[in-house]
Amino acid sequence: MKRVIHWFRRDLRITDNSALGAACSTGAEIVPVYILSKWTSPHRWTGANRQHFLCGCLNSLANNLESVGGRLIIRQGDPVEVLAALVKESGAKAIFFHRDPDPHGRTVEARLATWAATKGVLLKDFKDVCVHERRDVLTATGQPFRVFTPYAKAWRMVQRPEIGPRAKNLRTPHGLASLPLPTVATWNLSPPSANVLEAGEKAARRRLSRFLDHGLSTYTIHRNDLARGSTSRLSQDLRFGLLSIREVFQQVEDCANSLPAAGRDSAAKFAAELIWREFYMQILWHFPHVLETAFSPKFAGLKWPGNPKDFERWTAGETGFPVVDAAMRELRGTGFMHNRARMITAMFLTKDLHLDWRMGEAYFLHLLTDGEIASNNGGWQWSAGTGADAAPYFRIQNPWTQTRRFDPDGAYIKKWIPELRDVAPEKFFAPPASGRLAPHYPPPMLDHAAARNSTLDIFARHSAGQQPAAEAVAR
Ligand code: FAD
Repeated sequence: MKRVIHWFRRDLRITDNSALGAACSTGAEIVPVYILSKWTSPHRWTGANRQHFLCGCLNSLANNLESVGGRLIIRQGDPVEVLAALVKESGAKAIFFHRDPDPHGRTVEARLATWAATKGVLLKDFKDVCVHERRDVLTATGQPFRVFTPYAKAWRMVQRPEIGPRAKNLRTPHGLASLPLPTVATWNLSPPSANVLEAGEKAARRRLSRFLDHGLSTYTIHRNDLARGSTSRLSQDLRFGLLSIREVFQQVEDCANSLPAAGRDSAAKFAAELIWREFYMQILWHFPHVLETAFSPKFAGLKWPGNPKDFERWTAGETGFPVVDAAMRELRGTGFMHNRARMITAMFLTKDLHLDWRMGEAYFLHLLTDGEIASNNGGWQWSAGTGADAAPYFRIQNPWTQTRRFDPDGAYIKKWIPELRDVAPEKFFAPPASGRLAPHYPPPMLDHAAARNSTLDIFARHSAGQQPAAEAVAR
């Protein structure tokens, strides 16, 4: 083969990149292309934060490719049309790429396969987003797992793929046109107001090293501490493939080997979180209906009787529940939210405000830099009680007790809600006796105990085939 196209998708790195490595090993000239999506109106499932991060990743990828002799070609439009044109222009006979875990990506892959078959173009697709994908991990009877713990056990029994080298000596043919590197204006967006993390492979590798050196051994102890920020912060790096997931697992394992027993337990807990990511990806692959309706068939069609107007107070961080409001303001301010806070806010929207989880799912995807369709859907359905959880709808977290456990000195709340800076932290552990915590901060918009009972009633009525009671609380 004289020329091969490597189609970059969510693998924006040159280290241990399976498809790029395989393309290089053919000895052909490489045409590395990234295809920008074409929408220019507000997008339902992405926004300025994630697109801005993507732009930074492409910038860094372009530099990295140049450093090994290649050149990133940027094109825009429908991937099948763009790749067809590029095959024609470049004379490439093959397209190498990684499989996408999302239904949209799969549809594009199917269209590309149909086109390639008619043109005699070789398509070589590789696994990269996960260590184990699709049908790699199945039950003894060949069925997909629906519950995490047995999935994780089986996952660990399957051999991990090898790690590849960093690409070197790339040769990109001259004369192929490229669009300039994108900015958020490419999609008609304004620059993000959130303080988004530094993008690119180098920054991601720094985050990984820092976490391995300073966070891994105590991950179990601190991972739920809202104020500490001691989790890895690798989610956006995995989302855009700035890090190879194979390499992350390997480095965690290598690092764990030098730790005492407690540190090794911590490393195992961290690895389990990475397996959650793969669990949700395989759920989405086997059960794509989760993007439309409940994962659990018995909760399909469940009606959420909340008042849609309450959604605005939730997004604005004005519910009067400090931990919920702090988290929602963190999301707006940074494009990130701590995992514990994601659970608290998602449960609040669904099990206190009784609003449909799909509203929250879309809002999160719009703002999160790490917005990942599978994990986000999985997290929302888990929180709403309709998802892959052994104890679903009756798991209802109390925001006041969650605060006592995970923000005991109120540092997280005070960081994000300046109105509450002078309030004693223990006042955040229960509804305020005098109605308000501070003059410029709203009183709680509901009574959590009553909302909890309504949730149980909503699920019970659905199970009995009855309509949910109209929301009684006027807000
Ligand atoms: P760490 O605690 O350091 O975890 C390491 C990695 O493990 C993460 O980077 C992530 O890749 C994976 N991980 C950790 N927890 C989970 C989990 N519960 N489910 C799946 N993967 C996990 N994660 C996303 O990457 N994108 C999303 O859009 C997303 N939306 C979520 C929505 C809700 C309602 C909930 C409850 C969780 C969501 N998560 C999502 C999972 C989790 O909150 C984030 O992965 C985590 O907060 C990212 O921070 P970190 O990298 O510091 O995590």
